[in-house]
Amino acid sequence: MDDILNLIGGEHVPAQSGKWLDNVEPATGEVYGRIPRSGQDDVEAAVAAARNAFPEWRSWAPADRRAVLSRLADKVAAHAEALAAAESKDNGKPMSLAAAVDIPRAEQNFRFYASAAEQFASESHTMGDGTVNYTLRKPLGVVGCISPWNLPLYLFTWKIAPALASGNCVVAKPSEVTPMTAFMLGQWAKEAGLPDGVLNILHGLGPEVGQAMVDHHHIRAISFTGGSATGAAISAAAAPKFKKLSLELGGKNATVVFDDADFNEALNTAVRAAFANQGQICLCGSRILVQDTIYEKFRDAMVAKVSRMRIGDPADPATKMGAVVSRAHRDKVLAAIATARGEGGTILCGGGRHQPGEPRIKNGFFVQPTLIEGLDHTCTTNREEIFGPVATIQPFHDEREALGLVNSTKYGLSASVWTSDLKRAHRVAAGIDTGMVWLNCWLVRDLRTPFGGTRQSGVGREGGYNSMHFFTEPQNVTVKL
Ligand code: NAD
Repeated sequence: MDDILNLIGGEHVPAQSGKWLDNVEPATGEVYGRIPRSGQDDVEAAVAAARNAFPEWRSWAPADRRAVLSRLADKVAAHAEALAAAESKDNGKPMSLAAAVDIPRAEQNFRFYASAAEQFASESHTMGDGTVNYTLRKPLGVVGCISPWNLPLYLFTWKIAPALASGNCVVAKPSEVTPMTAFMLGQWAKEAGLPDGVLNILHGLGPEVGQAMVDHHHIRAISFTGGSATGAAISAAAAPKFKKLSLELGGKNATVVFDDADFNEALNTAVRAAFANQGQICLCGSRILVQDTIYEKFRDAMVAKVSRMRIGDPADPATKMGAVVSRAHRDKVLAAIATARGEGGTILCGGGRHQPGEPRIKNGFFVQPTLIEGLDHTCTTNREEIFGPVATIQPFHDEREALGLVNSTKYGLSASVWTSDLKRAHRVAAGIDTGMVWLNCWLVRDLRTPFGGTRQSGVGREGGYNSMHFFTEPQNVTVKL
C-alpha cells in the first residue's frame, strides 16, 4: 500500500485524528493506498508552522527565493518519469499525457515564478510639488491554496509557486482524489532548500480540512480552483472574514467553427478540445457550434474521428484516452448522457460505459467518447458543465446567432473561434463574454497572460503579475521631499 502523509513544519505526519481515506486507482477501481483524513487540528498545526516560518522567509532576498524555486523545478524535472507514472495512476489520465503536459507544466510553473520572484516590481508616482509615492508589495503572510483533481500537480504548482515567490508561507491542499504527486513534491522541499514550515501540505476532504483552511483567521487569502458550487460555498464562508479570494471555477466552453475556417485544423482541434484528458479540463470545448453551410460535413467527419478514438490502459504509453477520475464521477457523466437522451438528443457516437478487454483494467471507470446532436441552448445538457468525454454539436446560421449561443450559459471561462476572416475573428472575440478567447487555436498558453473567467467561471485572474498581485498587499508610502 502506498500511504501518503501530511507535510507540516518540515515533518511528514499522519492526520492527528489517526483517520485515513482510501486512494483508488481509477483504471482498475482498486484501492492502492491511504491518505490522511485531516481536519481542523492539522490546519492549526500547519498554520502555526507557517506563521513561525514567515518572518525569516519574507526577509529572504528575491534571488534566494528564485534559487529555491529553481531547485524545486529541477527536482520535478529529475523525477519527471516517476511523477508522470504517479499522476497517471492516481488520475486515470494517459501516461503519455501526464508526461507531455502535466509534469513539464509543473516544472515550468516553478521556473516561471522563480524568475518572477526576482523580476517582480512595484510602482511609484511622483506629484508636481516634489512629493513621491512608492508602493510596497508585501507578502500577505499565511495563504491557502486549494486545487482540483483534473490537472493535479499542474494546478497545485500553479498556485504554490507564485505564493512562495512573493514571500508567503503556504498551507496547500491537493484534491483528495489525486493527492500523490503533491505528496511526492513535498518530499523534496527540504532538499530544494525550502525552510521548514514555508510549504505545508494537508490531505483530506474538502468540507473538512478545506473548510477549516477557509475558516482559519490566520489564513489571509485562499486561491481556489474547482467547481462553481464549491467556489460559491467558499465565497460565502470567506466574505465575513474579508479574506482575499481567487476563484477559478467551471466552464461550458464553445468551439465556434465558421465555414471559412481551415477545415482540418478546426476539426482536429475541436476533437482534442472536447476530449483531451477525458474531457476533464475546465477549458474543454464541450459545445461545438458549426456554421450551417458546413455543418453536415463537419459533423460526419467529427463522428468518424471520435469513433476511432481508442480507450486503453493509461499506463500503456500508446494510450491516448484513459479512465475518468472516479466511480462517482463516471456515474455523474453517465447520468448527464441519460439526461441528454431524455431531452431528445441523438447520440452520434459513444453514449455509455466502456468495458475494457484487458484484465488489469476490467473494473476501471471508463466512459466512451460521446458526441450528441439535436439539442438547443436551453437544455440542461448545453447549460451545465459535465466535465467528462461528452460534447454536443449544433449548427448556427450567422455571426449574430453564434454569439448568442456562445454567451447563452451562466459560465464565462473560454471560447475557441475558427475563421479565416480577420475582421470577423476580432469582432467575435470582442463580443464573447469569457475571460479567454482563442482564435484559430485552443489552449495555447503564455503564462504571463491573465487566466480566469467571468460570471460563474470565477473571480480574479491568475498568471504573471496577476498572481503576484493577488498574493501581495500593496502599501503606498507618500514622501514629502
Ligand atoms: P471541487 O470543487 O469538488 O474540489 C476542488 C478542491 O476543493 C478539492 O481539493 C476539494 O477537496 C476542495 N473542496 C471541496 N469542498 C470544499 C470546501 N467546502 N471548502 C474548501 N475546499 C473544498 O472540484 P473538483 O471536482 O476537484 O474539480 C473539477 C472542477 O474544477 C470543475 O468544475 C472544473 O471546471 C473546475 N476547474 C476549473 C479550473 C479553472 O482554472 N477555472 C481548472 C481546473 C478545474
